[in-house]
Amino acid sequence: MPDSPSAAHILAEKIDRDGPISLSEYMGIANAAYYAAKDPIGEDGDFVTAPEISQMFGELIGIWLSDLWMRKGRPGHIHYVELGPGRGTLAADALRTMLKFECKPQIHFVETSPVLKEKQAALHSGAAWHKSIDSLPDDGPLIIVANEFFDALPVEQFVSTADGWLRQMVDRERNKFIAVPGTQVIEKQMSRSSAGLPTGTILESSPASVQILGELSHRIAQQGGAILIIDYGYDQPGTGSTLQAVKNHLPISPFDSPGTSDLTAHVDFHNLANIAKTRLLSVHGPVEQGQWLKALGIDQRAGKLAENSPGKAEDIRAAHRRLTHVDEMGRLFRVMAATSMDWPEPEGFVYGES
Ligand code: SAH
Repeated sequence: MPDSPSAAHILAEKIDRDGPISLSEYMGIANAAYYAAKDPIGEDGDFVTAPEISQMFGELIGIWLSDLWMRKGRPGHIHYVELGPGRGTLAADALRTMLKFECKPQIHFVETSPVLKEKQAALHSGAAWHKSIDSLPDDGPLIIVANEFFDALPVEQFVSTADGWLRQMVDRERNKFIAVPGTQVIEKQMSRSSAGLPTGTILESSPASVQILGELSHRIAQQGGAILIIDYGYDQPGTGSTLQAVKNHLPISPFDSPGTSDLTAHVDFHNLANIAKTRLLSVHGPVEQGQWLKALGIDQRAGKLAENSPGKAEDIRAAHRRLTHVDEMGRLFRVMAATSMDWPEPEGFVYGES
């Protein structure tokens, strides 16, 4: 555990004192330390995100938001909120595009990492920062964007055994962290029905995602607006662990050197859609990222950019492929929106409407 003795140290101390901790606690502590220590995004970091691949991504999100705002009748007092804005690139591309339509929202970033906050501040001098969603304004429509945010939130896992469903815990064995079965849980504590599932099945859920989307949906229902969620995940309830750790663009064990790799889990869009619907929002999608970007005109935008900069045509073509192709980010990544009932139908969800 050479790179980040702090996360491993905190975890080891806690386990020595209280016994094994839940997987979500382990993941929360490891990721907080990870994002606090460095900017992990980019070719020379641990992973690359869509806005860092091409300006087209943020621009199309800006067009999507502007269109929604214009059809709502251009409300004057409005808040652009981004959850986990990374380097601030998506916001820069989206807000520049929105300005062309005279859409000038106040800017709010929900960010816990001081390193990334500094990068965001270099691009967005007028933004307000929030450590959690609790302090977001309550006085106007919220248009909220979350790209690769929900996958970073902690998950719980439950394992089916002869003794019933047991909560997955994390213990330590000398210098190593290991997953161990914990106490029995009752079905009510799990996010979905476990009836009929065979021994050995793992069910995963993200209480933090449930809490955050529940609260934001409530706000949107009250204040008006929309949330756009883009992430890798699945549309139907699934089983099995999707927990993964990535370091230098390669997978490693989630239990190796916590705090030095990016711990993520796939996003359960089925559950997120249900949460938004329960709060009386209108849900659109999820659809594949590639389909959504194409519906918003990424082919035409790529053509125009290549025409303007012929020397960059090959790079633009490669970025377009990375964002849209089914073998790259086009299918694994999903796009889902939830809008308040008095806002218009958003663009891009041409099929897969739920
Ligand atoms: N949206 C960006 C970055 C994705 S990485 C992009 O597409 O490039 C995840 C982002 O979420 C980082 O900015 C990270 O610091 C932030 N983050 C992770 N956990 C968080 C939490 N619990 N609360 C707020 N921000 C968090």
